[in-house]
Amino acid sequence: MNQKIAWITGASSGIGEALALELARRGAKLVLSARREDELRRVADATGLPPADVLVLPLDMTDEAALPAHVQTVLDRFGRIDYVFQNAGITQRGTVAETKFDVYRQIMEINYFGVVALTKAVLPHMLAQGSGHFVVTSSVAGKLGTKQRSGYCASKHALHGFFDALRAEIHEAGLHVTMVCPGYIKTPISLHALNAEGEKHGRMDTNQQKGMEPAECARKICNAVTRNRDEVYVGGVETMGIYLKRFLPGVLNRILRNRPGE
Ligand code: NDP
Repeated sequence: MNQKIAWITGASSGIGEALALELARRGAKLVLSARREDELRRVADATGLPPADVLVLPLDMTDEAALPAHVQTVLDRFGRIDYVFQNAGITQRGTVAETKFDVYRQIMEINYFGVVALTKAVLPHMLAQGSGHFVVTSSVAGKLGTKQRSGYCASKHALHGFFDALRAEIHEAGLHVTMVCPGYIKTPISLHALNAEGEKHGRMDTNQQKGMEPAECARKICNAVTRNRDEVYVGGVETMGIYLKRFLPGVLNRILRNRPGE
């Protein structure tokens, strides 16, 4: 990753922030994106990179029309894009019966359509340069469905379909896709989760509180990326759910229906 250009979305917090620190440690030059510019500047300072090696580029993943101009800004600054860490995302707490329809649209706009739009904006440049790597933060919830997260699970499942297809299409061109499925990681994600009304859940959930440190998660993600892994599962025992889904789906379904829905 030394001297490579790595663009991280969702870099203002949590896993994205930890990825910024880890990638800087590995010698990458960074583009940091999310909505909150002040938090991006804090993360840029924390990387210790000289100003020439880090670009703070605030953006909203739902502003699809603006993404091609952001890609041009990165190219004007660094001349190429080696990695795009598609990590920005938002989760949900609310049953299907309670949740307003608009919450589903909001989650899909950020977690799925925004990611598709950014991928399509970057892809022509990676194809022209004959290299490039999309690293996509999905979730264990991209492989199975859990209570109170129907829209979130759907958005992450959708990413797998899209990027499995893309991986097959771009293989010959020398481009890569790594799907990352974290379990519980200790970040503020549940604070920003949308509740059934589309308001902020505003609570740090126990599972995240007890989860893996973001720095360890970022290290494991970067190790998987350097090995060109197609898919990586990062977290504790909850990642076993992915194997249960594949090999013993009935057992998994029993476990999931008996769990509380925090
Ligand atoms: P955080 O809430 O800490 O980070 C989410 C990031 O996404 C923030 O930087 C936020 O920045 C950014 N973001 C949210 N909405 C938008 C938007 N509309 N446009 C641009 N950026 C946006 O949570 P995590 O670090 O945990 O989440 C990172 C990824 O990891 C997500 O995709 C999440 O689904 C996934 N994940 C997390 C797990 C966990 O247990 N923590 C488990 C499995 C997957 P800002 O508000 O400044 O825009």
